[in-house]
Amino acid sequence: MSSAPWYLNSKKPSLKHQRNWKNDLNSKSTCYDRGAKIFQAEKYRKKACQNCGAMSHDVKSCMYRPRKVGAKFTNMYIAPDEKVESLKLDYAAKRDRWNGYDTSDYHRVVERYEARENARKKYLKEQKIKKLEENDGDDDGLRVDEAKVDESRQMDFAKVEKRFRTSGGGSTGTVRNLHIREDTAKYLLNLDVNSAHYDPKTRSMREDPLPSSKYRSE
Ligand SMILES: [Zn+2]
Repeated sequence: MSSAPWYLNSKKPSLKHQRNWKNDLNSKSTCYDRGAKIFQAEKYRKKACQNCGAMSHDVKSCMYRPRKVGAKFTNMYIAPDEKVESLKLDYAAKRDRWNGYDTSDYHRVVERYEARENARKKYLKEQKIKKLEENDGDDDGLRVDEAKVDESRQMDFAKVEKRFRTSGGGSTGTVRNLHIREDTAKYLLNLDVNSAHYDPKTRSMREDPLPSSKYRSE
């Protein structure tokens, strides 16, 4: 602007007067106190919500269940007053739907899901054992034992379902992949370029990667 307003006391042109003054707000530290209650009334007060009896809102904006007879008339179960804050937020903060969210809340969700998953696994395992015990097959004893093997040990092996083509038609079998992911690959034991040669095509390492070490004695 070439001619600034007199109250800016500026000699040269500027756009200072168009500045967004709200940017000064330290909006990062301002968040709502979610679900905070400030006062629990014993009986209905004048101007309170006729439905629940809280002072912080009116009937139209009441978030509680509409009662058959409102708190105004029953004078019972008065809802606590919510904490109403008027924060001066900037554009992004105003639209932040997670404002005031407590991240430590989420561990409860995780716990619930984990508990459900564990219960499901346990149930499925029990069912499997029961089923195996019921039908007395030829290699029954072995398979029951296998099913009873501790879950933690089974976790080491990634189960791979494979469909075999047999002479008697297609049959599905379970093949246990014996590769344990935690194992260090042989070619990573010794990173020296001049150490034993690893052939990636055949995935074979004919020589000992660590010729003189504890790895060998084990
Ligand atoms: Zn209400």
